[in-house]
Amino acid sequence: AIAHRVKDAKVTLADISTGNRCMIVKLHGHGGFRHRILEMGFIKGEIVEVIKNAPLQDPIEYKVMGTHISLRRSEATQIEVVSLEEDAHHDYLYNGTLTIQEHIAQEVAQRQKKIVVALVGNPNCGKTSFFNFTTGMHEKVGNYSGVTVDSKVGIFNHKGYEIHLTDLPGTYSLTEYTPEEIYVRDFLSNHHPDVVLNIVDAGNLERNLFLTTQLIDQNMRMVVALNMYDEFEKTGNILNYNKLSSMLYFPILPLVAKTGKGIENVLDNIIDVYENDLVKSKHIHINYGNDVEEAIKSLNELLKKNDNVGYLPHSRYLSLKLLENDSVINKEISNMSNYDEILKTASFYRQKIEKAYKDDITVVISDLKYGFIRGALNETLKVNNNQQRKSAYDLDKILTNKWLGFPILMIFIWLIFQGTFTIGAYPQQWLENGVAWLSHILRGIIPAGIWADMLIDGVIAGVGGVLIFLPNILILFVFISILEDTGYMARAAFIMDKIMHIFGLHGKSFIPYVIGFGCSVPAIMATRTLENHRDRILTVCTIPFMSCSARLPVYTLFVSAFFDSYQGLVLMSLYLVGILVAMLTSSLMSKTIFKKTFGHFVMELPPYRIPTLRNTLIHIWSRTSMYLKKMGTIILLASLIIWGLTYFPRHDKNTDNLTKQSYIEQIGHIVEPVIKPLGFDWKMGVSLLTGLAAKEIVVSSLGILYMNDEPIDEENLSLQKALQNVKTVDDKPITPLTAYSFLLFILLYFPCIATITAIWKEIGYIRTERELC
Ligand code: GDP
Ligand code: MG
Repeated sequence: AIAHRVKDAKVTLADISTGNRCMIVKLHGHGGFRHRILEMGFIKGEIVEVIKNAPLQDPIEYKVMGTHISLRRSEATQIEVVSLEEDAHHDYLYNGTLTIQEHIAQEVAQRQKKIVVALVGNPNCGKTSFFNFTTGMHEKVGNYSGVTVDSKVGIFNHKGYEIHLTDLPGTYSLTEYTPEEIYVRDFLSNHHPDVVLNIVDAGNLERNLFLTTQLIDQNMRMVVALNMYDEFEKTGNILNYNKLSSMLYFPILPLVAKTGKGIENVLDNIIDVYENDLVKSKHIHINYGNDVEEAIKSLNELLKKNDNVGYLPHSRYLSLKLLENDSVINKEISNMSNYDEILKTASFYRQKIEKAYKDDITVVISDLKYGFIRGALNETLKVNNNQQRKSAYDLDKILTNKWLGFPILMIFIWLIFQGTFTIGAYPQQWLENGVAWLSHILRGIIPAGIWADMLIDGVIAGVGGVLIFLPNILILFVFISILEDTGYMARAAFIMDKIMHIFGLHGKSFIPYVIGFGCSVPAIMATRTLENHRDRILTVCTIPFMSCSARLPVYTLFVSAFFDSYQGLVLMSLYLVGILVAMLTSSLMSKTIFKKTFGHFVMELPPYRIPTLRNTLIHIWSRTSMYLKKMGTIILLASLIIWGLTYFPRHDKNTDNLTKQSYIEQIGHIVEPVIKPLGFDWKMGVSLLTGLAAKEIVVSSLGILYMNDEPIDEENLSLQKALQNVKTVDDKPITPLTAYSFLLFILLYFPCIATITAIWKEIGYIRTERELC
């Protein structure tokens, strides 16, 4: 029995008129919105004074915690309050036994202690059993989804809280296909339950958790009850639900609704989630992979341009639904000013994704959701052996096997580097011959003089020197894109998780690292799939130690010039040193600047796919065009500048007599003392400096510097040979050891400007991004 049942009609901040005061009792809306409102000072129990609230006028001005803040009317309707003005409670004045002040205080306390809970779950998972047990009502159990779709509300007290429990119809999903689904969707977005109690059939986790992923997208505050736990235990399967809970950041508890076992615990956790709001249940993002995440990001940006997005369902959920062309959501946002642009963007990405995955968008997204569920269960659910069924994930038994997984991964990586080197050697040779032939021809055609020198010694030596490595880089990118498209990359993250933890990182950082072998810039972007800001910063800062493909030309040049055998191994050792330094740096950082705050995260295991030729070609083309663009712009420009610095002040080439030292020599002699102990000459020193613009430019500079002064004859046309003939400071040739230390220098010194900019931007982005949005 409940003494003072809270009235249903609630008052919001928007209802309070100018000059009046009220107390905040509850915030509605989703996590990101709540977070922002909380930050402004609209906290439960706080007193707000309305400075200016004219009907139909937006925004409304408030005074809270001593400062003036204006809120949009739509935002104010999401803040539930109790008026502190006596005449707002006039209906009480005539029949009260308490004083008006006592009445207001009681009203505040009761409002704050009223928790609206929605029961959501698949049909026949035991929602009504739970409902009956807690409310003492006798609703029909074992219902079959029928014609009438409705809900029942029951009210009961638990530990001083008044819980309003709504038993909703059972659904498998929150789409728009059945009346039940539409009903539950509407209820969630219109009635703002404080907490969703998601009841899950523990015996059928994979299917039941699908609905849970949709609730996660919606950023619902949630408790998951694993019902029918009695039957689950009989199967001999074991679920580490505490670990699952720590990965998903909401309570997950066993329950036997039929007998009432575990109900007390479920109710306690509902109160915890309600009270501790932003602490206990944190919002996590399900990572849908690059293609879908890119679409979500673009749509989110468009949605966030609108004022009213704050009280709509969470924008991540909206974006996913827009991508699925969901008619209800399309209608819901139809009053947005950029509606057309949003629909166009959604359809653009939808087509792109459907083409890439060769499947319907809803199938793609649900596959990805199952990948998330699969990943979560892979770490927490031990299935009784004689119960296992055949599934699309059978390959995981081998590839993520405790003993086989790691060696297989290492073999794959070794194959990639070996492949990059050996397959790439052929086209590289052709291009090299082509470049040599071109400069030879041009030398014959163009009259000798500054223009010929500029074109041949500057442009062709500089740009051509970089061009010949295009095949190697493309091969590397083909491998990386195949790893990603097959779904193996996600397994690699899984396998690496334990090792990465030793170094203060998370398995998911492994993916950006591997992408970093291609280029640091997209790798830095790829860290956005990491859940945790600390992990992201650590990963972003250490990515430059991954040898990017721009360093590959330098490596290849020196390795083929100075190492006759074991070329693949030498190359791989450089990559390994980079990885090692990255690991040590991050473990050092995680022990000093960033204290360890580990959580478990779900490692999505998307289904295995055969990569499509189309996708791979798209990747190759985007890389090629980027590389060509880089050569036509920054590398061309840098080559010209470096050539200019070597050419001026003018020296007379014909007499072989230096009239003055070139500018670059002057710069070279400044850095010489620093690099001399390493056995480098000043030309190598200057080349290192030019690497700041882009790492390929090191090769351009070497080309310009070493090939410039040599008398032109057939033998000296290759930079590789020119390097072998170099006499360093003490008239010694470059030894393999000197070559290797030069390569280590290239690996470890400052990253290129593009990377530095990307790191800078990303750290700024991480800092401004709201943890809970
Ligand atoms: P709803 O469709 O989600 O409302 O599910 P019901 O509450 O109607 O329950 C469906 C069936 O599952 C009924 O026959 C219940 O008796 C049974 N049931 C509910 N909870 C449990 C439980 O914890 N253990 C077992 N063994 N059966 C349960
Ligand atoms: Mg029912």
